[in-house]
Amino acid sequence: MFPALFLTRADSGATQAELRSLAVDELPEGEVLVRVSHSTLNYKDALAITGKSPVVRSFPMVPGIDFAGTVERSSDPRFAPGDAVVLNGWGTGETRWGGLAGYASTRADWLVPLPAGMTAQQAMSIGTAGYTAMLCVMALEANGVQPDMGPVLVTGANGGVGSIAIALLSRLGYAVTASTGRPEEADHLRALGASCIMDRAALAGPGKPLQKENWAAAIDAVGSHTLANVLASTRYGGVVAACGLAQGMDLPASVAPFILRGVTLAGVDSVYAPQARRHRAWQRLAAELPADVIARNTRVVGLGEALALAPELLAGRVRGRLVVDVN
Ligand code: NDP
Repeated sequence: MFPALFLTRADSGATQAELRSLAVDELPEGEVLVRVSHSTLNYKDALAITGKSPVVRSFPMVPGIDFAGTVERSSDPRFAPGDAVVLNGWGTGETRWGGLAGYASTRADWLVPLPAGMTAQQAMSIGTAGYTAMLCVMALEANGVQPDMGPVLVTGANGGVGSIAIALLSRLGYAVTASTGRPEEADHLRALGASCIMDRAALAGPGKPLQKENWAAAIDAVGSHTLANVLASTRYGGVVAACGLAQGMDLPASVAPFILRGVTLAGVDSVYAPQARRHRAWQRLAAELPADVIARNTRVVGLGEALALAPELLAGRVRGRLVVDVN
């Protein structure tokens, strides 16, 4: 038996979340059985647990879009008992039972070996948010962005994606401006590597289609008016990597930044990113993100606490990353 967060749907349609005990033979069929050591609470997990958005595609569901742990048994020759692995996405915690549990049964194709020198807790301190931040950095680089081109804006700065994006970019030599609704966290953002802090209110409402050219590039975790204003204030030839919707799913923008300034909007998806890109992202995270930065940005909680923290995360009251120690 092992502990798990368990989601069911009431007749009213509301999601009900509880901590319960499950048996290994209740898990869905899978090639690899992983003893989960750590998982995390991501924005999407909080949506699933609270039922605020239709993230969960079938009930009952064990939430948790990522996990790190050790292979217990495998019918696939690529993995053997004792191997340390990490998983992000592929519908885990949405269509297939996920990582907020003591065990997970999954497909071999979806697993990435834990990079050498990285612990399971560190991997989940990075988690899907940090891995997505690295995919965003890689998207900027793939579109020709370099540190000497000018300042890079990161929105949703205190969140999981934003905080790790700041740390990664600053270590690569970029001058990073952090956009946040929590100016009281300015010292934390500076310690992560931000050189300037701006109030997110300046980006939050309707704005002109073309604005002062401020940013060589940007990583946006917020969407909606914020992304529209970021595009409008990106320099000629600049690149914006868009990965999130913390403000909203809409994009009330014009084509002016694209057709008059040659701005590129690069979409970033972590869930179905191809394996080669995942391996590259995790190797780079292991090499480029110092352990003290990871630790400073992390709070470790238990499975039960994760339930109570889901609404807090959606309300934007969580700083950095929430790691769930499932042991
Ligand atoms: P968090 O909740 O940790 O962070 C989101 C941050 O956005 C908050 O901390 C806050 O930062 C800011 N924010 C919250 N509400 C608003 C608002 N109404 N207007 C403007 N800013 C707001 O989430 P994550 O960092 O884990 O994820 C960020 C987004 O990226 C989410 O939408 C998530 O779904 C998405 N995502 C997408 C992935 C992909 O594959 N494309 C993968 C992972 C995440 P502050 O207080 O500093 O302003």
